[in-house]
Amino acid sequence: MIRRVEINYRGVFQKRLAKKIGGDVVRIASQMGKVGFSNGRYSDAPERSGIPSKYFAFVSSDLSEEELEAECGAELDIDQADVSIVLDDTLVKGVEPWAWSGIRPINENLRDGGTLVVVTRRTHEDLLKHIPGKPRGWRLATYEGSQSFSGMWVFRDDFTHERTLGAIAAAAPDVMTIEAVEACLNNRHPNDPTRAEAARRAFDEVVEKMKTVVVGTGVESKEAAIVLPKWFEFGEGTVVAAVPRGFEMRPSGQSRNQQYKRGTTRSQRPIIRFDLCTKCALCWLECPDESFDPVPDGLYDVNYTYCVGCGKCAQVCPVQECIVMIDELEFDDESSPWETFSKDRHAYVTWAEDKKSLGRLIHSYVPGSADPQTVKGERIPPKHG
Ligand code: SF4
Ligand code: SF4
Repeated sequence: MIRRVEINYRGVFQKRLAKKIGGDVVRIASQMGKVGFSNGRYSDAPERSGIPSKYFAFVSSDLSEEELEAECGAELDIDQADVSIVLDDTLVKGVEPWAWSGIRPINENLRDGGTLVVVTRRTHEDLLKHIPGKPRGWRLATYEGSQSFSGMWVFRDDFTHERTLGAIAAAAPDVMTIEAVEACLNNRHPNDPTRAEAARRAFDEVVEKMKTVVVGTGVESKEAAIVLPKWFEFGEGTVVAAVPRGFEMRPSGQSRNQQYKRGTTRSQRPIIRFDLCTKCALCWLECPDESFDPVPDGLYDVNYTYCVGCGKCAQVCPVQECIVMIDELEFDDESSPWETFSKDRHAYVTWAEDKKSLGRLIHSYVPGSADPQTVKGERIPPKHG
């Protein structure tokens, strides 16, 4: 029997974190007398900032190392995950690998009865507004926390690593037990019991918050199944179609490469208060993904299909509160914000301010804790004109 753990993470920011979790699952399981190995998904490009990526850990108590590796070693993806960890809750909107081939549901590879475990501050109901239903029952569990930057050396010690090990032990004790997780962490950090304590707290939280998602719950998947080309449909040699060049003053008026849509790469998106904009053009000039489009009234619309959510536009905009980054789970579509603004300025500003107040939450960095310290957006009245 093979137990499979899938770790969904964001490229660059969480790469080291996912690798450490996968490695520790194998290490702890082997300390319990099992065999295992972990690897990253072959087709991802985790060196790209924010790209949805996957790491896997496989554990067996009755196969040899060679047999386990023969079964799982060459897999590009897995379709029977017992546990699927989600290290950034905005990934519940779907994941797409590098070389865009379509958005796939976050729970697509979960086996019947498997458990999706999300680090989040949202409720199950909030998350299920974005996750498609499945033909058979599955489980959803959460433990509290923000998107961790533990993959980068700057914020490496927020204990998401240890807490995730505790969460996996709660979701699949036959992979590893919480006692084995605590023993491993205490051995590694003999003078620091807070790490094992953090794992135990996450374990308790996941046990408490684990719910069975019955058939019929969840949204309908909007994405068609991926159809891969047949070998005889391939062109001779390598064919890279050129992007037709074009420019018009309108939303989506600039030509873009259809292969580089970035929908699921972002955790946040910019909201623009067009009524405050001074038309300085800095957002258009500085956006590294050329996501802004000049529109006829001199403003700059943003094309969310190509925005990676890097936040640079919000950094360079010289007008206070004109561009603000908001949690991606606050949004349901990628339509043009400028078109909405043009139809009804007042309604748009009210909508934008509501989004800011709800979605702009800054969580303090407290090692080992998930205590939120939230800062709400300042409401700026509409500028008439
Ligand atoms: S967040 Fe702003 S700067 Fe970054 S890709 Fe999106 S529109 Fe461009
Ligand atoms: S940077 Fe800000 S003020 Fe300048 S054009 Fe963009 S939205 Fe307007």
